[in-house]
Amino acid sequence: MDCIFCKIAAGEIPCNKVYEDDQILAFKDLNPQAPVHVLVIPKQHIRWAYDITPENSAVVAHIFEKLPEIAKICGVEGGFRLVNNCGEDAGQSVPHLHFHLMAGREFGWPAG
Ligand code: AMP
Ligand code: ZN
Repeated sequence: MDCIFCKIAAGEIPCNKVYEDDQILAFKDLNPQAPVHVLVIPKQHIRWAYDITPENSAVVAHIFEKLPEIAKICGVEGGFRLVNNCGEDAGQSVPHLHFHLMAGREFGWPAG
């Protein structure tokens, strides 16, 4: 499959790895929008949040269970912004489910 995040998960494309286990990978975003900007992905290909099902949602739960550890590894203490862009209208540019973990600056709401 010609998916850049699948290739990163398979080790075929290098990344700046922050955390990895058998199910998920976290790595630094190439174009950071905050002092800490990490992408957390399932290793299995899930295109977008629309494709989360009872059959594959355990890996999504696993991502959320690991967020505190990943944030700690990144030196985050005061909280973080978690973002998922689902679909073109939301600005999703890579069609493999991922969560942006961002920290280290003030964030606006609902955008910015
Ligand atoms: P989104 O726009 O929500 O789909 O987020 C995709 C993110 O992936 C963007 O923030 C990009 O900067 C980031 N990105 C794209 N290719 C790579 C890569 N090879 N390594 C790290 N981050 C990447
Ligand atoms: Zn993929």
